[in-house]
Amino acid sequence: MTDAAKSKFTPRVFSGIQPTNHLQLGNYLGAVKRFVEMQNSGIETIYCIVDLHAITVWQDPADLQNATRELAASYIASGLDPKRSILFNQSQVPGHAELGWIFNCVARMGWMNRMTQWKDKAGKDAEKASLGLFAYPSLMAADILLYHATHVPVGEDQKQHVELTRDIAIKFNHDFKVGFFPVTQPVIEGAATRVMSLRDGSKKMSKSDPSDASRINLTDDADTVAQKFRKARTDSEPLPETLEGLKDRPEARNLVNIYAALAEMTPEAVIGEYAGQGFGTFKPALADLAVSKLSPIADEMKRLMADPAEIDRILGDGAERANAIAEPILAKTYDIVGLIRSRRT
Ligand code: ATP
Ligand code: MG
Repeated sequence: MTDAAKSKFTPRVFSGIQPTNHLQLGNYLGAVKRFVEMQNSGIETIYCIVDLHAITVWQDPADLQNATRELAASYIASGLDPKRSILFNQSQVPGHAELGWIFNCVARMGWMNRMTQWKDKAGKDAEKASLGLFAYPSLMAADILLYHATHVPVGEDQKQHVELTRDIAIKFNHDFKVGFFPVTQPVIEGAATRVMSLRDGSKKMSKSDPSDASRINLTDDADTVAQKFRKARTDSEPLPETLEGLKDRPEARNLVNIYAALAEMTPEAVIGEYAGQGFGTFKPALADLAVSKLSPIADEMKRLMADPAEIDRILGDGAERANAIAEPILAKTYDIVGLIRSRRT
């Protein structure tokens, strides 16, 4: 935490995940598992299902609704408690879109053009990408700053967007001569901050990757998990004696990191245990470990998904609580900017 954040802003955690497809292992290890740890540490935690981000690329409406409820079920099944954390979907709190617009007028085109996620996701034909996809990071800044969040647990791929959030807060504070928005800290920790694709050690695992074999989904059954790890691309060398030996072996390093994060061990300790062993031994051990950790979550998700009305009730309750925090911050922002907002005051 910066000194400024320490003195002025109460520690508050915010993070979100897009309801696109099923949650994958990277989302679980890099984000959700760490959301749970932060909740359990006693700090105030707000976790969002960012459906407005999801629609920056085409989503079938029925699939989107289903993915939103499924992500809520994944959060809860992974250990997020709707009483201790605020859990809700973004579109139910209008302040995200409202502050997002204000930040569109603070952020600069040049900043957005440098975002690697924009370049990756827009691909070669950026002319055909939605305007929303380009503005995505400024909406993300709004998600975070609408709650004056001081800490944002995310995977490594989101670091640049949190840095942009800081730039937006600094520019807003500077332009309007206020100290209103905190300069938020990204929290990127643990062995699995960047889980790589099982098919390509140079690409991160993603829930929207067209290849299902590239990732482990939280909903995969035990046979599928075992098969995906068995087929994961690796070299043919045994595991080395030290971590240093994994330096130029990204696929092997990825599997060791996944094992470490699932077992809550350091990668060094995993190497200590499996040094000299081939993938014929390591991959099945990893699959067994993954199934033992993930199958209780998948079972609980199934149980929760049988009652969608209860999930909607939890999201509605969370949205009300989120809105109660957001509303005074938004009202003050309107006031700072010079926008009259008498209808709600
Ligand atoms: P999409 O392909 O739709 O962008 P995604 O898998 O990248 O899906 P997001 O909703 O964009 O998921 O990200 C949710 C959270 O999961 C973020 O905090 C992000 O940093 C984290 N995350 C995503 N992929 C990984 C990964 N491979 N390893 C670690 N963390 C990840
Ligand atoms: Mg992503």
